[in-house]
Amino acid sequence: MNALATVNVAAAPSLRLSEVFRSIQGEGELAGTDSVFVRTVGCNLRCRWCDTPYTSHRPERGERVTVDGLLDRILEEDCAHVVLTGGEPLLAPGVVPLTEALRERGRHVTIETAGTVFRPVAADLVSLSPKLSNSTPDGRWSVRHEATRDAPAVVARLLSEYDYQLKFVVEGEADLPEIEAWLVRHGGDPLRTFLMPQARTAEEYRRLAPRVRRLAEGRGFRFGPRLHVARWGDRRGV
Ligand code: SF4
Repeated sequence: MNALATVNVAAAPSLRLSEVFRSIQGEGELAGTDSVFVRTVGCNLRCRWCDTPYTSHRPERGERVTVDGLLDRILEEDCAHVVLTGGEPLLAPGVVPLTEALRERGRHVTIETAGTVFRPVAADLVSLSPKLSNSTPDGRWSVRHEATRDAPAVVARLLSEYDYQLKFVVEGEADLPEIEAWLVRHGGDPLRTFLMPQARTAEEYRRLAPRVRRLAEGRGFRFGPRLHVARWGDRRGV
């Protein structure tokens, strides 16, 4: 533990951890940035095309870790950027002291969230990926997913209290009216809006990316690359 610490991480609730790994950020404003990724287990949604089903559809138990221990693991990497992702990382109360401690040590903290749960994390960037109707699964989870995927009060706080980016997963032109309506409803900034191809394999990405790029550029949005999918598909830990 760092002797300069003032955030009391020793008393923080533990977390269920899926993985910690170092890679490049594949998406959004910071695409290409060397980062440490911290992935928690557990999600309150079940997106049809989820690329981390081991945190959502078929959640693994994960490793139970203290915030103190996890902080040490992250700091060992000596990397300026830390990305908390999931699953839905904001389900875990321990992320609040973890983010506070990371920022205290000068790390840039990005939170990857679907924007359905709020916690007062210390974040430099909230990377909000709102779930459109194209995410709704068939079967028993569909009603719950549909009722949960848009949480206006949570989105309002995230957009007003943090620097943010918006990342929409797009399958085709039919998604655009829903994105535009979302931005109007929530007051989202089109210039901070990325359209990303819905793809889990490199092949799917290659097929859809040019079309999504044209759609984004034609509507004044930004094209959102998914560098990790283009290179590794949905392989874990990269
Ligand atoms: S919110 Fe993310 S982790 Fe959860 S089901 Fe959707 S894509 Fe998967």
